[in-house]
Amino acid sequence: MKRYATWYNNLGDNFMIQIPDNSTILAPATLHLSLYKEILKQKKDCLGIQVLTLSSWLSSFYHGQTKSDIEILYLYKEALKNTSLSNAFYSSKEDYDFLNSCLDFIKMAKTYQIHKFPCSTQKEKDLNEILNLLYPIQLKEDQTKDVLSSLPNLENVYILKKEYSQLDNYWIQILMDHGAKWLGENQLCQTHYYSVANARKQMEVLAHLIIENDYLADDIFVALNNASDESVLTQILTAHKIPFTTIQETHITSIYNEWISYLTWIKDMDLKSFINLIQTLYPHDNYLIQYYTLFPEKFFKFEPHLSIISYEENEIINSYQFESYQRLEQQALEWIHNHAFLFHALDFIEIAKHIQNLHEHVSKEDLNAFNDVMSLIQDVHTHIHNADDLDILIHQIQNLSANQKANTIEGVLIGSRQDITSLRPIVFLTGTNANAFPSLKLHSGIFDEAYVKSTNLPNLETRIQNQQTQIFDCLSLCETLYILYPQSDYQGKNYESSSEIENWIQTKPKFITTPDSFNWTTPNIDLNETSAKAIFFKDNHFKGSISRLESYARCPFSHALKYGLFLKEKEDITDIRIRGSILHHVLEMISKDKQDYTSLSKEEIYQYVRKEFAFAKKVLLQQVTWFNSQIEEITDKLVLIFEQLHSFETNWHMNIDKQEHKFSYSYPWNEYTIDLYGYIDRIDSSNTSFCIFDYKSSDKDINLNEFESGLALQLATYTLAYEKESNLIPVGCFYIALRTSPETLTYGKLNYRKKVPELNVINESDMLETFTKNRKLKGWHFSDASIYCDDIKQYMPVKKTNPALETIKSEWSQVIDSLLEDISSGQALPNHVKDACKYCAYRSICRNSANEVEPKLRVEKEEE
Ligand code: SF4
Repeated sequence: MKRYATWYNNLGDNFMIQIPDNSTILAPATLHLSLYKEILKQKKDCLGIQVLTLSSWLSSFYHGQTKSDIEILYLYKEALKNTSLSNAFYSSKEDYDFLNSCLDFIKMAKTYQIHKFPCSTQKEKDLNEILNLLYPIQLKEDQTKDVLSSLPNLENVYILKKEYSQLDNYWIQILMDHGAKWLGENQLCQTHYYSVANARKQMEVLAHLIIENDYLADDIFVALNNASDESVLTQILTAHKIPFTTIQETHITSIYNEWISYLTWIKDMDLKSFINLIQTLYPHDNYLIQYYTLFPEKFFKFEPHLSIISYEENEIINSYQFESYQRLEQQALEWIHNHAFLFHALDFIEIAKHIQNLHEHVSKEDLNAFNDVMSLIQDVHTHIHNADDLDILIHQIQNLSANQKANTIEGVLIGSRQDITSLRPIVFLTGTNANAFPSLKLHSGIFDEAYVKSTNLPNLETRIQNQQTQIFDCLSLCETLYILYPQSDYQGKNYESSSEIENWIQTKPKFITTPDSFNWTTPNIDLNETSAKAIFFKDNHFKGSISRLESYARCPFSHALKYGLFLKEKEDITDIRIRGSILHHVLEMISKDKQDYTSLSKEEIYQYVRKEFAFAKKVLLQQVTWFNSQIEEITDKLVLIFEQLHSFETNWHMNIDKQEHKFSYSYPWNEYTIDLYGYIDRIDSSNTSFCIFDYKSSDKDINLNEFESGLALQLATYTLAYEKESNLIPVGCFYIALRTSPETLTYGKLNYRKKVPELNVINESDMLETFTKNRKLKGWHFSDASIYCDDIKQYMPVKKTNPALETIKSEWSQVIDSLLEDISSGQALPNHVKDACKYCAYRSICRNSANEVEPKLRVEKEEE
């Protein structure tokens, strides 16, 4: 275990490659660090050894000052202004990808000294016009012939053996012809071919093999066939404390991204690029993103809107929220005022100064990145006349950013298959399914294989053969090769194994998996008693609504997140639950205003609903269309609800006494004070009695078991609290369902038990009975309600299913005590009851640990 955590203790003489004295070694820049490490290991210093890239070595043979790629792209753009209007590529003539494809193709054509292009089909004719416009622009590849004739004897030149591109191979062949040699030999001794369940398992197996074989991390190279596997690999190596370095480092400096965001903003000047600019350059000014996400229509309007509106009571935006919107607006306007320069015309010097000012401390990488960008700008600033010309520059900076190299190397080296060399004795080749391996390079895009076929460039067969030979040659450069093949992707889609690998290795993969200890263990998220008491019983008080206790009974973890960590749910005005509370509030307003509210016309209801939305429509302008549709929808719902309630209200003879009535209930518990509070939707009363009603958007029924488990405490708590407050007799407590879904009626039932199945048609009176039963109030009644209700059987539930008030009282205390006991003991696991997760805002947090359990009965039952 100790061995793989150290990284520089392999100073033996068994070198994988022998570094020749007084030599020039050619290798891609990404491998220079590894090479230098090997040189130091063998020679103790780098005297007499030069390490260069192939292109920088070749550059010494070109004469005159050659232009950079970015400069050529701008010259191409200029030249293509003369493209004829009828050319199929006319609309692409300024596109970065198009210009870049042209440059790549012309480089190759000039290297192979090709000057004539196919001209038979219309596409070929159009491309010919393009190439004729671009070909006269001088590239260094125009000097290929001269370079070929001036190459000296190259016996001191060594080329690091690995997979190279077609163009690189062209030059390597020529260098070899002049005496250059490969650095690195085939030395494969052991090959292991394993299949694994999926891409994640593949990385666990890889880590397990490193540990099990006690490999030195410094000896290992991981070649990813699929670049997107990098994050899972680094995650697993980190979890197992195996040091690693990725060849292509991506986040060394933020300078490239700052330039990209700034220039993109100048180019587009729209909300998307503005938000991107804020995220990159001003990550601490997040309030701007909040403001412009809520009020996108205010973008580029620099005058106040919310601060000149006065708050109006409504259910959609509360006063606290509105004040926070006003504050956001004020901050946003101030910010824009202080950053007016962002809206000025393009000025590279000003941008550079501004980016510099953002960095108090600069690293070496920051400075290098800054210089890289400045030299690009230096090359092309004379070609940039306005913001539309920035596209090429932005793309080139993106390329620079994507090609950052690691500046130190530690432990396992991670790269692609093309980076396999003799520098590391153990290679893991991952993701070798048939889609990803060998994945030969074909010409695609505008200059595709069909086009290339008609030119004098090397033909497809030759290229494929060369690539195949090269791939398997390079797989033999290490001593021990592990080939891993994941059988499926993360979605469970099956992958085929690669026939090329099987043919090469002459065997099928062997299935392998990791022992259980490598699997993730569920994190323990229970609290201890001391922390739980400190969090939930602050200053010896437990304060909360009755629905908070119900939420604990549904899922202790969601309770801890909401009331312990105070994690806020994401605000979304279109959340279905907000719609429910609007319905609720409008109903309350209407019934407060009108005694016979169920007889209101649709137009009258519409006016109430419209009023509820009026303020929100003034504030959240981009939501107006959605609000209008909600006004229509809620009005229609209320019309249906009132139709259903009308019959009950005309037969019910208690008066609505209170609505949204706040109650609080305090009592001592152990050494704490418990303060419970809540709002009772509706209390109807007579001189002697009262009845509790709670509006529910669903078709909720009360169930004694749920009450005894702490899942349905509201109705009972309201009854007990109001009994204490009013000294009146409780008649009952009921839900009024605000639902508008139609009843399902069945024509008949088929009886299959008979020899010949028999249909029993349901008659009209049975249907009516089902309908009436389903539309009854749901709840409990504690004393005779017949004096208040004309047809009690039709509207009220059957009395015999009710628990007695005394039972409710005694069980209520037991349930609350039991919940408080559990909360104070620190139980906070995501052991949720059925359906608790359906609308839970914290689903992304508990993920794999969520565990469905039976509700816990919190009362003592006598043995029957
Ligand atoms: S999603 Fe389910 S398990 Fe997770 S916190 Fe919410 S209710 Fe609990």
